[in-house]
Amino acid sequence: MADYGKRDYGRCPCGGQYEHRAVEVRMTVQGKVVVLTDVPQGACPQCGSRVYKAEVLERIESLMKGDKVRRVQ
Ligand SMILES: [Zn+2]
Repeated sequence: MADYGKRDYGRCPCGGQYEHRAVEVRMTVQGKVVVLTDVPQGACPQCGSRVYKAEVLERIESLMKGDKVRRVQ
């Protein structure tokens, strides 16, 4: 994935500071397992809570919808 600029995820509600890391995300899209690698994620070292940047979430959501290419009949 591309670099998403500032890797500042702010603070977790528990008071911890989110730390940037790149993770692997697995999901099932229309019966197929899709693996995304190097997904930027903020993780709280205190409570384990995880956050994603809005643009990363949008990308994941578009993939989950199948991201279909429409064909003109
Ligand atoms: Zn936390």
